[in-house]
Amino acid sequence: MIKSVAGDAGPVSSTGFYWHERCFWHDPGAIGVFSSSGEFQQPLAASESPESKRRLKNLLEVSGLIDEMAVVKPPPAAREDLEYFHTARYLDELERGDLEGGGDAGDCAPYTPGSFLAARQSAGLAIAAVDDVARGICRNAYALCRPPGHHAEADRGRGFCLLGNIPVAVTRAQAMGLVKRVAVLDWDVHHGNGTQSAFYDSPDVFTLSIHQAGNYPLNTGTFAEQGEAGGYGRNLNMPLPPGCGIGAYRHVMQQLVVPALQAFQPELIIVACGYDACGKDPLGKMLLNSSALAEMTEQVKAVAERVCGGRLVMVHEGGYSEGYVPLCGHAVIAELAGSATRVPDPQDAEIAAWAYQELQPHQRELIDGWRSDWEHTATGGKHAIDL
Ligand SMILES: [Zn+2]
Repeated sequence: MIKSVAGDAGPVSSTGFYWHERCFWHDPGAIGVFSSSGEFQQPLAASESPESKRRLKNLLEVSGLIDEMAVVKPPPAAREDLEYFHTARYLDELERGDLEGGGDAGDCAPYTPGSFLAARQSAGLAIAAVDDVARGICRNAYALCRPPGHHAEADRGRGFCLLGNIPVAVTRAQAMGLVKRVAVLDWDVHHGNGTQSAFYDSPDVFTLSIHQAGNYPLNTGTFAEQGEAGGYGRNLNMPLPPGCGIGAYRHVMQQLVVPALQAFQPELIIVACGYDACGKDPLGKMLLNSSALAEMTEQVKAVAERVCGGRLVMVHEGGYSEGYVPLCGHAVIAELAGSATRVPDPQDAEIAAWAYQELQPHQRELIDGWRSDWEHTATGGKHAIDL
């Protein structure tokens, strides 16, 4: 077994899998997508439920893939870990609110008693995964985090996220001298606004987000947001129109994501791995299948092999199809672990056969336009990530 976080001993294992049952016990209460129950709103279970995550973990058990990885159940994040990113006032509010019956941590981030500990546990998974990969205890890692983290900001929760799992893990690892240059690729269908805000002026963290334009949050995630001060040119948003499928994602990966990651030469790559760009998601309007997500994983893994010794951490974010997230997650994790253990995906061929899966002219124009704009800015000396 590998030792986590504090561990500097133990055999080097290839892929670490970080999870904890407590993450599944976070209860956001009965909310719909963005609405509360009311006179004409029949109560509805929360969109963000444990089921998609628990079913993924169960599928890993049933297929046997979990037995090919080093399974780690690390401790919850400590208060001082969280303070690398979050304000003390926000943490106080969350702690007090949790004791007093719950509430909303900011903007559509509902919680109930016990949620704060679950959120600390979720952040603890990301911390341990980043720590272990940075130290070389395992080559790469998957953290099955819940609640998710990429919308949380320093002083408030947002979009089902209470704590910024990735910003906490990265800023902590940087403070400990474990890693300096980090790239965070977010392919959740929603903009990774929290991660962007955490590193907006940092020259050392390159944040990239592929998302559905103008979904949640409504007012962030444009291509024009490229960072500020020393972090200028270190934020690349790719807001795709709804309806993008396998061809559009393949094009944006090939034209922008892979060359940009390669050019930045990070010491560690993190993927904010949401599954809500899949064709079965109730909150997103994209068309990916499990094969496409596995292919994207393969592409990022190949960059990690070329530039940073394979150091890659995937952190679970959104994904609201309880039936399909497990199949997508299994395909991604099998690719990450380089495993031949696969499970049949009965939806895969059907989704691939949907109309408009190929790259459409308006999608190509948008993506090629971003590439040319980014290249122009880079060669103009305004930032240094030259594709
Ligand atoms: Zn999402």
